[in-house]
Amino acid sequence: MEYGKCYLCGNSSEEVALLVCEVKGEEKKVCVRCLPMLIHG
Ligand SMILES: [Zn+2]
Repeated sequence: MEYGKCYLCGNSSEEVALLVCEVKGEEKKVCVRCLPMLIHG
């Protein structure tokens, strides 16, 4: 199975948990480290 990558920092799910989110109608994966950044803009 191929590891997904965070669309912001490029971390793979091997290193950090990834979440799937939708950005401008596109499905993206984002890691929990980038999530606070995404929430706060
Ligand atoms: Zn990230």
